[in-house]
Order: sequence, then C-alpha cells, then structure tokens
Amino acid sequence: MTDAPLISLYQELILEHYRNPRNKGELAEHTAEAHVANPICGDQVTVWIRLDGDRIEEITFDGDGCAISQASVSMMTVLVKGRDRSEAIGLADLFTDMMHGSEEASSDRSLGDLRALQGVSKFPVRIRCALLAFDALRDVLGSGLEADPTGG
Ligand code: ZN
Repeated sequence: MTDAPLISLYQELILEHYRNPRNKGELAEHTAEAHVANPICGDQVTVWIRLDGDRIEEITFDGDGCAISQASVSMMTVLVKGRDRSEAIGLADLFTDMMHGSEEASSDRSLGDLRALQGVSKFPVRIRCALLAFDALRDVLGSGLEADPTGG
C-alpha cells in the first residue's frame, strides 16, 4: 500500500499544475500543432511546438477539461522542452508504461512531476485523461515528421 502523506503530496502537485499551468497559450511561431480530445471525460488539449532541427525549442498548450488531463499536459511541456524528438518519445513510452501499471516505469525518476500521476493508473476510466498529453505530443512530433520530405 502507498502511504497517505505521499498520495496527498501527489494530489497537491496535480492541483498546483492545474491551477497554475506552465507553458499555457498558443505559441505564435510554431512549426507544428496537434489537437486531441478525450470524449469520455470531455478533455481537450492542443499542443504547439517549435522545433530547432530535432530539438523541441518551445512547447506550449491550451486546453480544457479535468484536473488530471490539464495537469499532465502542463507537466509534460515542462518535461520535454529542450529535449530532442527521440528523448521525448522515450519519455512518452515510459509514461504510458507507468499508466499501465509498470513498476519499473513508476520508479524511474526521469518522469519528474509526472510521477505524481502514477496513482491514476489504479482508475482505468481516468488513464485516458492522463495519457492525453502524450497523445498530443506524439501527434505533434509526428506531424513535424510528415512535413519533412526526407523523413520517409
Ligand atoms: Zn479527464
């Protein structure tokens, strides 16, 4: 069993990102954007990025929905900003594993604040809310690839 003080600490971190979202608002000079939705909960997320080569130079989002969806996308932008595409996809895979109950992924500190969402993996209907941020990230990185004629 997870101890109660840790759970409330995690809930506070989720609410803190929900109330004070990081990197929120349309990015004026973006190279790609993606919009994803979770109709079950009514969550909406749009992500904008500016790539410098393979590096995510800037990333912002806008959205609407439950605290889990909006906190996770805020945390995601903080985590992947400044990283290259393959690192960001690796983190998306790690987070997806954590949400599907992988203990190895849960104990990996590279997910930063997003580790606060691991408790959500116990509530199947809310997993979609948490994964929405990385669906958007995969989309926005994928759309950047399609725009590259050498991307194959
Ligand atoms: Zn939701």
